[in-house]
Amino acid sequence: MTGFHQAGGRTPDAVRQRRIFEGLLLPGEERVRVPEILRALADRGLRREDPRLRSLSARLDELPREATLDEDGFLHAARSGLLLLEAAISGRLTIPEFGGFVAEVGGAFRESARNRDGAVADYIPQLGRVEPEQFGLALCTVDGQRHTEGDACTTFCIQSVSKPLNYCFALEELGEERVHRHMGCEPSGVSFNELALNREGVPHNPMINAGGIMSGALIRRQDPISDRFDHVTNLWTRLAGGVRPGFSNATYLSERATADRNFALGYSMREHGAFPAGSDLVEDLEFYFQCCSLEMTADSLSVVAATLANGGLCPLTGEQVLGQATVQSCLSLMLSCGMYDYSGEWAFRIGLPAKSGVSGVVLTVVPNVMGICTWSPRLDEQGNSVRGIEFCKRLVERFNFHVYDGLGDAARHKADPRRAAHADRRQLLVDLCWAASEGDCEGIQRLVVRGADVNAADYDGRTPLHLAASEGREAAVRALLGLGASADIRDRWGNAPADDAEREGHEAVVDLLTGPELSGGRRGLATGA
Ligand code: GLU
Repeated sequence: MTGFHQAGGRTPDAVRQRRIFEGLLLPGEERVRVPEILRALADRGLRREDPRLRSLSARLDELPREATLDEDGFLHAARSGLLLLEAAISGRLTIPEFGGFVAEVGGAFRESARNRDGAVADYIPQLGRVEPEQFGLALCTVDGQRHTEGDACTTFCIQSVSKPLNYCFALEELGEERVHRHMGCEPSGVSFNELALNREGVPHNPMINAGGIMSGALIRRQDPISDRFDHVTNLWTRLAGGVRPGFSNATYLSERATADRNFALGYSMREHGAFPAGSDLVEDLEFYFQCCSLEMTADSLSVVAATLANGGLCPLTGEQVLGQATVQSCLSLMLSCGMYDYSGEWAFRIGLPAKSGVSGVVLTVVPNVMGICTWSPRLDEQGNSVRGIEFCKRLVERFNFHVYDGLGDAARHKADPRRAAHADRRQLLVDLCWAASEGDCEGIQRLVVRGADVNAADYDGRTPLHLAASEGREAAVRALLGLGASADIRDRWGNAPADDAEREGHEAVVDLLTGPELSGGRRGLATGA
């Protein structure tokens, strides 16, 4: 394989493109195979049907499966998806080691699936008829890396998950000040459908039933209910990257027929003058039932959650669907009020904004990282999906996703799968290479204590020991060897550190690297290996 740096006279763009091509070559091959391109995408969680990769996939579909491409052919075929491919191959997507990450997620999913506690909600008859054993999970990162487990593609009613989004839609339309004339931002401390309003006679927050009815009542009030419903479904479609929600008429009718409590809440709010002037209570309640009866899959909802995690910008389409201030308000209230009477404990144990619904859905947002949706119909006493809660507990046991895991090193035992962590590791390696080449022994010690890996190598396969050896830094070579650096690692040109020292005429360093204490004699040298 030709090194890109040897390609002489290439423009920076051509160098980058060459790197992408090289990243896809199998060892010893000069042409890239089409299945390798697809595998490289799939391994990193990118789907062929991702809107950003549509034309690349279409072009690959035209080629026979065994086709191979030279650099020009590859660049021509891949040109529309090149940036995404580059990010994927160079480890710059949100979760660089996606395979390892989703293996852990799968483990947490299967462990949670063993839990058969709880019971399906039956106060809305249609919900009571759902097969309780179902369990689906989907996640989508803010870069659009996706993963599913179990029944992720089965549709269900979104129920209370409509509430945070209707709140966002109202905020976008009217702004925070006007919306919060009609609702508070305090946890209610009582059940989601409790007949209770705050001291001002408005709902405590938008995440409980009274607040959900109110948010709906604020959306496009001047329009007929049919247009309001279209408006909301269009927004959901954009949040989900183009997948339109369905609608369960049976659930809507069933909910409307058994809605005494929600009617009571509506009348109580009207009695307190909570609605804007001119509201039609029955229509607003029906609109609320309809929004709860929208049907989606965990797979699509994970994209909605990822859009929230990404500050309102849909990762798959790049469209800013919601303003960042709107999303910030929404996530704040999801964190404090999103999980019914378990909200305080959820914030304490899981520490992530989330919203659950009585259909067994839990929508969880890891800000700046990913959206997660679980769905399993059996609920606990507070009305949250038993498996959904268990999965999230297991997730934050493994990964440092709790909002306060970043404080000090209290979460040291948890893994950090994010790109930032990888970028930190890369920075440590760069610093260590510099310290080694300058012979800064104290710097080397300090960086290794901070977690730098003495045997890590840069893009060219150069380790700190290569650099110290090239520069003839005897003390640094000694320090690195003492810290466990291997004298056997070869760079991409096949050279070990001792080869570098010999080439540069640093005999003392050659001796250090090939001395009897490094058993195997002059094993570091290319000639004597
Ligand atoms: N439509 C349901 C109700 O109003 C929503 C409940 C929920 O998911 O919390 O009772």
